[in-house]
Amino acid sequence: MSTHTHNEATSDWAAVIHKFGRDKVLPRSSELDAHPQDMELIRSLLLEVGRIGLYGTVISPEYGGTGPSSLHEAVDAFAYHNAGLAMSTMPTYLTARALMSFGTDEQKSRWLPKIAAGEVITSWAVTEPDTGSDVANITTKAVRDGDGWRISGTKMFITNASIADAVLLLCRTGGPGVKETLTTFVIPMDAPGISVTGVLEKMGLRSSPTCELLFDNVRVEDTDRLGEVGEGWEVAMDVLDYERLAIPAITAGMAQRALELSSAYADQRTAFGGPIAELAPVGEMLADMGAALLECRLLYRHAAALSDAGRPSITEGSIGKLVAGRLANEVTSNAVQIHGGYGYCREYEVERLYRDARLFMIGGGTSQVQRKIVAQQLRRSHKWGATAGVWA
Ligand SMILES: Cc1cc2nc3c(=O)[nH]c(=O)nc-3n(C[C@H](O)[C@H](O)[C@H](O)COP(=O)(O)OP(=O)(O)OC[C@H]3O[C@@H](n4cnc5c(N)ncnc54)[C@H](O)[C@@H]3O)c2cc1C
Repeated sequence: MSTHTHNEATSDWAAVIHKFGRDKVLPRSSELDAHPQDMELIRSLLLEVGRIGLYGTVISPEYGGTGPSSLHEAVDAFAYHNAGLAMSTMPTYLTARALMSFGTDEQKSRWLPKIAAGEVITSWAVTEPDTGSDVANITTKAVRDGDGWRISGTKMFITNASIADAVLLLCRTGGPGVKETLTTFVIPMDAPGISVTGVLEKMGLRSSPTCELLFDNVRVEDTDRLGEVGEGWEVAMDVLDYERLAIPAITAGMAQRALELSSAYADQRTAFGGPIAELAPVGEMLADMGAALLECRLLYRHAAALSDAGRPSITEGSIGKLVAGRLANEVTSNAVQIHGGYGYCREYEVERLYRDARLFMIGGGTSQVQRKIVAQQLRRSHKWGATAGVWA
């Protein structure tokens, strides 16, 4: 059982994560940035944050969770300490959410109590070597095999695959396109035929393992199928819409860290007879960073509140992802700038934050794809402007 209860005030909940981050994560920052990665360390931290209740926030009490509430405050607090680990929490709570929405009672009972208790972490596998933004073109195939299925194909850029206990997987079970042709499965990673064929060495978010994952004629039971046959597109879109809400939460935590480090540095670094914080251009950069931090927080709180209330949030989620991706890059670039030459050196944390930020314009749907989604949504709902940001 998780130790967090959802009656706790948000600030208390964030404080629990902050304490964990301060005690267990920040002291190991450089190890976590190293390659080859210490997979055991990463897995143990991702399970421990589960034990203090992070994944349980999207799981109902009947399955050992505390949801639905306060996930994004926790992600924000965790990202302050390490954005890569915060990103690596994502596949697990997305799998849990998909199970809550589409799972059978048996599937929920099988996976959710273990996820809520921090005993299981997962991956979420959609992208393939030849298709990322164009999700509708995936080729990993699941074909009927007696009572079950056989799955073959390769997935690419899969977060956590090297340390996960299970994978939420999108497969093709019919012809081309997405209408009744895709199906989702939740499969234990120890199923024969599943192998991690590569762990990528990345620019940033190096504490988050990103892998190539091979399915070689993997036999799975029909009870591993999540949702109806042909319902995979609907499951995937639900998961992807929810995934985007977390990006401004991660970038808020990063922006807070970058701002605090930069303010402290600007107060103690002197030039031209005083602290650089007193130089107007430095103050302006700090002010822009503060504004960006608040923007990220307001974006995720607004979009997550809509989503939690069961209201449409696709446009807001994509706007949040689009804006947060840009802001994360601006904030961390300012942080490096304020640190001058030291900001360009590994020894200073802002150097890592700058590398970490770059992903948020790519992963979870690129900025170009977010604009495409927003433009499509706006065409569908010409009145969106009247309700934008309104909570009536
Ligand atoms: C660190 C990391 C972790 C990831 N984790 C996961 C994971 O756990 N699970 C998973 O399934 N995937 C994961 N991904 C994959 C990620 O979602 C994709 O990389 C992303 O969606 C972009 O796909 P792509 O890399 O194939 O780029 P492409 O789709 O090839 O895009 C290349 C360029 O073309 C542009 N482009 C493509 N289509 C359009 C369009 N219609 N309009 C305008 N421009 C367009 C893109 O914006 C981009 O600039 C991860 C990626 C990274 C780097």
